[in-house]
Amino acid sequence: MKTVILSKEPKSYSTQTLLKAAKKRMDVVKVLDYSRCYMEIEASKPSIYYLGRAVEDVDIVIPRIIASFSAYISTVVRQFEMMRVYSLTSSLAVVRASDKLRSLQLLARSGVQIPKTVFARKTADVTDILDMIGGAPVVVKLLEGNQGIGVVLAETRKAAQSVVEAFYGVGANILIQEYIEEAHGADIRALVVGDEVVGAMLRQGVEGDFRSNLHRGGTTQPVELTTKERNIAIKATKTLGLTVAGVDILRSKRGPLVIEVNASPGFEGIESETGIDIAGIIVDYAISKSSGKRRKDRIGA
Ligand code: ADP
Repeated sequence: MKTVILSKEPKSYSTQTLLKAAKKRMDVVKVLDYSRCYMEIEASKPSIYYLGRAVEDVDIVIPRIIASFSAYISTVVRQFEMMRVYSLTSSLAVVRASDKLRSLQLLARSGVQIPKTVFARKTADVTDILDMIGGAPVVVKLLEGNQGIGVVLAETRKAAQSVVEAFYGVGANILIQEYIEEAHGADIRALVVGDEVVGAMLRQGVEGDFRSNLHRGGTTQPVELTTKERNIAIKATKTLGLTVAGVDILRSKRGPLVIEVNASPGFEGIESETGIDIAGIIVDYAISKSSGKRRKDRIGA
């Protein structure tokens, strides 16, 4: 069996552990920098090239997506799909998950609870938006942000107005969200593979920061999920068409609320917190699904 891991960060913990897990189980495993893949769009014979050579006879593709390259990786994954190769994350799911706003719209439509959220363009009336959310405090989020950068807590109406105007002033796309104070600067990261939550941890922000991102100094703790939390994590993953996802959940007075679904979650924090071999579970899952796909392809289903 031949597997390709598409990654812009070949040295990262997650790519390396996936590589190790895949090598343990398969004969040929390669990490390709997808930004250097190029494609021939031919009607009967779609193909992909890397460093001057055709990438052929691939059984499984495991994409690791980073926000800034999501458009290109979705094209590369789509090309693999045209070549009838199984991709752990489909090209459509890559597109959905890389767009925060689209993800939230899809989640809300399918009944996954999220914090009250408003998205508006520059010309919108900030006072009206704040009324819709229920007033300050609110969280203002840069749509293109990650790792907690561009996530701001505005504690008063005046502060909210200034922050929103400042972001609009530089032409940034933002969303304004109800602040879930009772989460106390903590969120849950649930790692979903297929129909199961295979690991979870609680992340707590540093004293005085409402953001729990590990990149911002947050710490992890073990956590036991409720059935509701498990179900919402699995439903959020399925709604976006993902098979593997890191679902971020806030514990609110009205139950679990999903704030984000990450299509390429990092494994380092969760593996060291839980001791679970997440990469191994993912590779086993990919192998079983790709065999199923091959069987279906053979019988023309
Ligand atoms: P990023 O994608 O940059 O990590 P998030 O939307 O996940 O942005 O927000 C970063 C952190 O801020 C979250 O992990 C959570 O701890 C906190 N947070 C985000 N949204 C809210 C909210 N509406 N209410 C309370 N805390 C929030």
